[in-house]
Amino acid sequence: MGKEISRQVEQEYHIETATPDADRVRKIGQALVDHMDKRDVPYTFKVIDDRAINAFSLPGGPVYVYRGLLDLMGNDDDSLACVLGHECGHINARHAAKQISSQYATTLLLFPIPNPTVANLAGGVTEIARLKYSRDDEYEADRRGLSYAHYAHYDTSGLLHFFDKLSRMEKREGGTGPEWLQDHPLTKARIDKAKSIIDHHDYRYGQ
Ligand SMILES: [Zn+2]
Repeated sequence: MGKEISRQVEQEYHIETATPDADRVRKIGQALVDHMDKRDVPYTFKVIDDRAINAFSLPGGPVYVYRGLLDLMGNDDDSLACVLGHECGHINARHAAKQISSQYATTLLLFPIPNPTVANLAGGVTEIARLKYSRDDEYEADRRGLSYAHYAHYDTSGLLHFFDKLSRMEKREGGTGPEWLQDHPLTKARIDKAKSIIDHHDYRYGQ
């Protein structure tokens, strides 16, 4: 199902293939995978050429980062590793699969479609990019992402720096803030939790 949706994502959006950032995202993503215990998943890491500040993952391995998010991060590889790790965390914990199948079940129940495609069942590409995860799913993805980043020798405080950038931007611009925050609400509890994961598991840099 993830494969079908990723084909649609790549039809709908322009994917950067030959840019330095496309290489960088692939390289950092691969470093995370090399230090992960679940290496049987065929992860891919791609850049969507769109100004939205967002990232998402699909069941089965595809991870997408938007140009807008990369521009916000600048050359901070540690932050990028933590965000890619977070998205891998959703994949490994099967969060999207869980969400999609419950949507799938509901849609099927409410609107039986004679020739269903994944797109109309799952509500289309934009809906997938906007899956709402529970707070617990977010904590779990942060926890996994921090551990992947740590074992791949990135500085886990990169996640905190990224949170900081997002919340400053949210304050500056008001409203709902960057897209990533709409799907990944940034509460004080979440930031505290990330800090305590870093301390508790000795994910501090250099440990
Ligand atoms: Zn998330």
